[in-house]
Amino acid sequence: MSFTLHGIAVSSGIAIGHAHLVSHTSLEVAHYALPKHLVPEELMRFDAALEATRSELAGLHDNRPLYAAAEFDAFLDLHLMILADEHISKTPRTMIEHEQCNAEWALKVQMDELVTQFEAFEDVYLRERKTDVVQVVERILKKLTGQPGHTPPAAKHEESMILVAHDVSPADLIQLKPHQFAAILTDLGGATSHTAIIARGLNTPCVVGLHRARQLMRENDLLIVDGGQGVVIVNPDKQILAEYKLRQDQWQLERRKLKRLKSTRANTLDGTAIELHANIELPHDLADVKENGATGIGLFRSEFLFLNRDNLPDEEEQFEAYRTVTEGMEGLPVTIRTFDLGADKQLKGATRVASNPALGLRAIRLCLAEPQLFRTQLRALLRASAFGNVKILVPMLSGISEINQTLQLIAAAKQSLDDEGIKYNNAVPIGGMIEIPAAALALNVFTKKLDFLSIGTNDLIQYTLAIDRTDEEVAHLYDPLHPAVLHLLANIIGSANKARIPIAVCGEMAGELAYTRLLLGFGLRQFSMHPAQLLGTKQRVLTTSLPEITTLTQKILRADDPMKIRELLDRLNA
Ligand code: PEP
Ligand code: MG
Repeated sequence: MSFTLHGIAVSSGIAIGHAHLVSHTSLEVAHYALPKHLVPEELMRFDAALEATRSELAGLHDNRPLYAAAEFDAFLDLHLMILADEHISKTPRTMIEHEQCNAEWALKVQMDELVTQFEAFEDVYLRERKTDVVQVVERILKKLTGQPGHTPPAAKHEESMILVAHDVSPADLIQLKPHQFAAILTDLGGATSHTAIIARGLNTPCVVGLHRARQLMRENDLLIVDGGQGVVIVNPDKQILAEYKLRQDQWQLERRKLKRLKSTRANTLDGTAIELHANIELPHDLADVKENGATGIGLFRSEFLFLNRDNLPDEEEQFEAYRTVTEGMEGLPVTIRTFDLGADKQLKGATRVASNPALGLRAIRLCLAEPQLFRTQLRALLRASAFGNVKILVPMLSGISEINQTLQLIAAAKQSLDDEGIKYNNAVPIGGMIEIPAAALALNVFTKKLDFLSIGTNDLIQYTLAIDRTDEEVAHLYDPLHPAVLHLLANIIGSANKARIPIAVCGEMAGELAYTRLLLGFGLRQFSMHPAQLLGTKQRVLTTSLPEITTLTQKILRADDPMKIRELLDRLNA
């Protein structure tokens, strides 16, 4: 039966392929039957994986992060307890014996059942413990896959597979980077959640907030995904399929044409130079940055170096990552954001679930609460500054006290390098992200104390409109064109320009073609976006005349009716 699902459009492009449903965990689990004589061997494999996991967890006690020793111990004890529980250690064994299936599958089925039970708990704390169950099972699964097992059925071609998940965390999705799924679909998520941002970075069509896609689809269903419209057609008929194949060809042709703009300067029709920088998550994104002709890196989300691992990157490892990117950019600016951990980007093993993670100990607040951790990063960043054009960007600053504390910690890190005779650029520019309304409304102190600013529209909109950017239930209320947002943006850009302090936008709005002219009209001259969006934005800049858009942008700013604002925006983009 053919049917259509509508979700939130995250990453454009048309994909045609077969559904590959993944479970709660990002790990793919094969399911295959075993001949009876191999069952005892499979049981031994399962027991060995449990034992290996147990010793790994015990070993982690010695390796715990200094900043959270007590919490880390509690988390290890909890995980050891889950591991020993018969639901994990015995029930899958019974299933292997009775159903003659592989150990991974038995474990996954049991995990899914436990997760469903945990989700039904009224108590928030207990409900959240499902994450611990999943983490323990992931550990065992890794041990199982690390051992010689029975060969699962041959893998399908990823290029024609469409990943369908209930939810994927940003940390999980970054691990999918080397893979080549034709598209990514999730039941949960909002357009500017970090998961969506990473999906955009994979340059793969993506639709989130589909609610029940994983329930409604079956493995191997034929799917058409229109990432730009947020539409998924399941088991389309021949005519629809032919039409989308045509659209897919056209879209690919457009992308190829855009490639020709790679070395063209991004000047408006009236000759104003616009800087188009790239956002990256990890050093290996550098290839994309180069391929799309970015004139700098406007946002290196350094926290991704901290995810998907049991330990923390030390100063040397961080320094190498920052230096690689800095040298790779050959003198062009490289803006490295100090880690923005917390909220939806949690360190592995973090056990405390804040009641409002987006309003909790996140980004600079976490850095100031854990100065040792911050110092390590600052030293690594400063050391990298000796190798090129590094700028340090601080996320989530809300006011003068945080700015002063941050500047003091940077001074202290410089002093420690001086004491050891280590080189760095003493004039390394320090910038602040404007992503909290308080910062936008009290901008003076930012323009006085910092060297540059960058607007994080994703969070600025989230906090201005009180909309959780990761929650698909309220995603329809997340509106970059809300008059309050537009006024904040116009004021921040105007004030920064007046104070002659460089200002960029590095949130998702910067890479959305619908907003390019609007932001130019507000006075923005520096955009930072995902590499895949750069050439499209450049094309829009090349066809824009600044004197011609001024009147319309001012009209948009004066309008308060959403319909009128959209109508004016359409005229601006016509
Ligand atoms: C933002 O908030 O707009 C931003 C660029 O930072 P992040 O998306 O990583 O929170
Ligand atoms: Mg942000």
